[in-house]
Order: sequence, then structure tokens, then C-alpha cells
Amino acid sequence: MAAVTERRQPEMVGEATFAGLAQPGIRALKAYDPGHDLVALRRRFGTERLVELGANENPYGPSPAARQAALEALETAHRYPDPLGGGLKRALAERLGVAPAQLLLGNGSHELLMQFAQVFAGPDAAVAMSQYGFAVYALAAQAAGAPLQFAPAWAPDVAMPRGHAPDALASVVSARTRLLYLANPNNPTGTWIAADALAALLARLPDEVIVVVDEAYAEFADAPDYRSALSLLPRHRNLVVTRTFSKAYALAGLRVGYAVADAGLVAVMERLRESFNANSVALAAATAALEDEAHLQRVVSANAQQRPLLAEALRARGCFVHPSQTNFLLAGFGEEEAATAVEVGLLQRGVVVRPMAGYGLPQCLRITVGTADENRRLLQALDEILK
Ligand SMILES: *Cc1c(COP(=O)(O)O)cnc(C)c1O
Repeated sequence: MAAVTERRQPEMVGEATFAGLAQPGIRALKAYDPGHDLVALRRRFGTERLVELGANENPYGPSPAARQAALEALETAHRYPDPLGGGLKRALAERLGVAPAQLLLGNGSHELLMQFAQVFAGPDAAVAMSQYGFAVYALAAQAAGAPLQFAPAWAPDVAMPRGHAPDALASVVSARTRLLYLANPNNPTGTWIAADALAALLARLPDEVIVVVDEAYAEFADAPDYRSALSLLPRHRNLVVTRTFSKAYALAGLRVGYAVADAGLVAVMERLRESFNANSVALAAATAALEDEAHLQRVVSANAQQRPLLAEALRARGCFVHPSQTNFLLAGFGEEEAATAVEVGLLQRGVVVRPMAGYGLPQCLRITVGTADENRRLLQALDEILK
């Protein structure tokens, strides 16, 4: 091994040289920013002392049954996974009341979000999304060489500050729009579109626009006016709902997500799906996780208990906290300098949150709702900084 590491690297040609050889959509693309170098931070602080509230992960961990199923699946890791993901699809189909043919499995839903643009968007097929929509949508559109149509979000001083504005979304859609992405609830704002407003928006959009409603946080939503778009599927063949096992099911490290849509739409997506994109360990764990409803309920209740407590504590410290139906809060600190000082101060104290400058919100930080203990450590560090 030593000989390998000591060998001199060949001279590198600049990234720009190869970018010039890449497809037009890729030339100007910036790679998705996954946040801080957590591997280095864990080494520096130790996993026990580091408080990781930057990636909307589930602090309670997966169902023990999912863990067990993953371990058992390792016994057959020398075999390729089921290329059709049949077991998980059957379980999901039963749970959601859809046909297995309406399901598409992904290596995380991120993969599927990218693939929708590969399949449906391009230089003559534009992509519509809301300001403060999830960053992956813009990346997917750019990679496909598709024009982006941004709809302005609600103002910061209304009931759903910086949330998606359905009228604005409907009016950026034009004859050349082929794909519309919308997270409900949204990341990074935590805001949501009410059930009747979403239904009305779908009714206004042409059938030729594929509407991807990203429900990565749906399991956490409990507002009386929130409803999953799954119930709208029978009425809209252009509707796609994506979900993930990364958040409420706490399997982020295993990478499983799925889309629910018209079977014909799924069949077209299948043409481009990598045959073994969902691995066998992930398939087994996700299937078991889905069956452990009690575990999911414990996670969701714990989050529902902690979320308002953390929001209130942040408000008491002068933050502007956006309404949230997720497992994170978008907190405004007034000025960019204040948010940066808090972010840096928290990091020095081993508390990781997510800066929002990439979203055009440099005055905000996105903070995962942690366990009671994690939230207490966050607030304690915040108090030291604000003192
Ligand atoms: C976390 C997240 C996802 C899920 O990503 P995975 O690839 O399934 O881990 C999708 N959409 C949004 C808005 C998210 O925040």
C-alpha cells in the first residue's frame, strides 16, 4: 500500500479542460453541495460530541427489524439484487393502494429526480420550479440542458413565508414546459401547500407537463390542511409522487426512494433505470422498515413533540422561524453577518447546521429537529454565541 500512496500523481489537467469536452448542460454545472465535511468533523469532535443537525437526518435511527433484515441480506451479497425490487414494490403497493407497475424504485429519490429530467427535459423542454425549491431540481434541469422557469415564492411576511405560490407556478408554465418539480412539504423552507391549493394547481396545468410532487417529508406532516398528492393520482396521469426511506424511515445511508405514477409513465422511466440501482441490503431493510409502523409512529411523534419546542426556543432568541411540516426548521437571523457568525460559532462548538447562501438566503440557517438532548446542546451553544 505504501508504494501506491508514495507514487507521484501524474500531472493534472484542469477541470476546465474536460468541462469544455462535456455536454453543454454539464459545462456550467456546479456539483451538488452536500454541506460540511462530516467525516473530518466526526474525527475532530468524536461522534458522541458532534451534534449533526445539517442534513435533515433522523436522529432516532431505523427500525430494529430493518437493521436485522439488512444484516441477513448481507449473507447473499454475492448475488445481484432483485432487479425488479418485487418484494418492496408489493409491500409499497399494498400500503399505498396502487399497482406494483405504478412504482419505480431509486437509489434514493435523488436519483429519480435527476432521471425525470433526463427523460422528459431538454433544450426544447423546460423545467418549472419554485424559488427556494429543492436544489436538486435545478441541477437536474441544467444537466439535461433544459431551460429553467423560476416561479417567485410567497413574500417573507405572509402566512406561508417563502413557500411555493401556486398562481406563480401556474403562470411560469408555458407551451415549452415539460416538467414541474414541487416539494411538499418543501426543503429548505419547511413550508407546505394546502391540499385544496395543490388540487387546484394540478387542475390548471396541462396534461403534457409532468408534475413531480416530492414528498420526502410527507410522513412528518400533520397539519389539518396538508394531504399527500397520492390521492390525486387517479385524476392526473401526468402526476408523479416521490418518496424516500432516507428521512422518516432513517435509512439515508442505504439509499432507497421511490416514485408513484401512471404505469405507462413508469414504463418509460424504466427504460433508463440502471438495472440494480436499489441494492439488496437496502431493499430488505426498506421492506422491513415499511412493516414496522409502530417505529415510524414513535419517530413521527417524537419529531412532532420536539419541532414546536425548538421553534419556540429559537423564536425566544430572536429568530424568524418559518412554519414547518418537516423534521427541520428554517431560521432567519436578520442579517447575513449574524447568520454566518452563528453558523461558525456553532461549528466551533461541534454543532452542525446548514448555511443557506446557496438558496439565496444567506441570513438563514436550516436546522434539523434533533432529539431533546441534541436540541438542548444546540440551544446551549447558541446562547454562548449570542451572549
Ligand atoms: C432529503 C430529500 C430527498 C431525499 O433524498 P434521497 O435521495 O431519497 O436520500 C428528496 N427531496 C427532498 C426535498 C429532500 O429534502
